[in-house]
Amino acid sequence: MDFEFYYTKEQEEFRKEVSAFIEENAYKEPIVPPDPVQMSKEMFIYGRELDRKMGKKGWFAPAYPKQYGGGGLDLDHCIILAEEFAKVSEQHRWPGGHEVSSIHTGGIMSQGTEEQKRKFLPKLLSGEWFGFQCFTEPDAGSDEASMKSTAVRDGDVYVINGDKVFVGQQPEGLRPDYLYWPAVTDPKAPRHQNISAFFIPADLPGITYIPLNLIAAEGQKWEVLCEDVRCPADRLIGEENKGWLVTQATLALEHGGGGSLTPRNKRVLHVIDYCKKTLRNGKPISSNPMVRDLLVQLYIEAEVGRLWGVRNFAMSQGQIPRIRYTGTQISLHRKRFSPVFGKALMDILGPACLIDDPELGILLGEVVNEVRMADVTHIGGTPEVQQIMMSRAMGLGRSATRAEAVHK
Ligand SMILES: Cc1cc2nc3c(=O)[nH]c(=O)nc-3n(C[C@H](O)[C@H](O)[C@H](O)COP(=O)(O)OP(=O)(O)OC[C@H]3O[C@@H](n4cnc5c(N)ncnc54)[C@H](O)[C@@H]3O)c2cc1C
Repeated sequence: MDFEFYYTKEQEEFRKEVSAFIEENAYKEPIVPPDPVQMSKEMFIYGRELDRKMGKKGWFAPAYPKQYGGGGLDLDHCIILAEEFAKVSEQHRWPGGHEVSSIHTGGIMSQGTEEQKRKFLPKLLSGEWFGFQCFTEPDAGSDEASMKSTAVRDGDVYVINGDKVFVGQQPEGLRPDYLYWPAVTDPKAPRHQNISAFFIPADLPGITYIPLNLIAAEGQKWEVLCEDVRCPADRLIGEENKGWLVTQATLALEHGGGGSLTPRNKRVLHVIDYCKKTLRNGKPISSNPMVRDLLVQLYIEAEVGRLWGVRNFAMSQGQIPRIRYTGTQISLHRKRFSPVFGKALMDILGPACLIDDPELGILLGEVVNEVRMADVTHIGGTPEVQQIMMSRAMGLGRSATRAEAVHK
């Protein structure tokens, strides 16, 4: 029996089109740093141009409906796109792919009016807009609902005050297009029923950006202050005081509910390849049985994560995830895998995996970046919080009526 999957002639033609587009637009040399914090302003701007070019072709958010700015492509075409773009990003030649804005479609798709969908989705799904996700506050991290940011209606604007931390991913000297910003709009209402979400234009007076230099992060991080910022009322997402539902839909996508089609874990494959080709005491590193054991475990765990991503992508296909714990499931697995991967790299490769020296560092700095990021599991919520969310979605730990924020 032949188990091979064959693409149709039309699909192979599509692959050629994608590949030609990539060759035309990618850097010729491998110069995109594995650690996004090291990305220069110029490279970031070039990456944003690439996002918009992809958006024009419908490839920035390929599975989303065409009328809202997506590509309307079927699963096979999306897989072809993912395979071709993975090749060039593995070669460190593609600085594009700033997909945070597509996460922000979740709230609009589930809570927005048709008018809001037509107004905002094309900007988010075509790569035109790039935003900061402004959830975390100095006193509200895991417990997001205890946020202190406020938004008070004043005629045709909301006056916004608040302080968000650890947000954004953009080099100094650049501004995002908008701030995705939940704030309390009804201080007297019960928890979860007092919040509204906004797309604040990022250049309004009263907004201050302060760079935060973290030990490891997926890009330059920022603290953002809003002081009496007058945000147009039509930047409200969904209804007033229904912002918790907007937030939940956004987080479902951030955690992985929309899935991804990343073909294999490139870092794990690169390390396996490195261990096969690099000699230690005259023998390939991979000839050590303990190393082989570790590498196989890494491969298995990476594949589990990848296959969940493919499953979620196939199930959601540009729609809001229907099963509530499928996103947190991936997120939890990723957060458990990351420290295991980091430790295995140190065990296998030794001190050389802690430097990014061009001569001595391993795999163009990929390894040191992986090791530094290994314990950065707070992004998008800590492992403990993923576990709590997953158990609540499964009806564990709380009664069904208290399982989530309920709007009556
Ligand atoms: C690199 C990086 C990037 C980030 N990017 C963004 C971003 O773009 N936008 C944004 O809004 N935020 C961002 N964050 C913030 C991130 O979402 C928060 O750090 C995270 O939600 C945890 O909040 P906290 O840091 O206040 O920790 P805390 O909430 O204070 O938690 C401290 C510890 O207590 C544990 N804990 C808390 N509550 C419970 C509980 N109920 N049960 C068991 N354990 C619990 C946590 O698991 C954690 O170990 C980023 C953070 C980092 C490090």
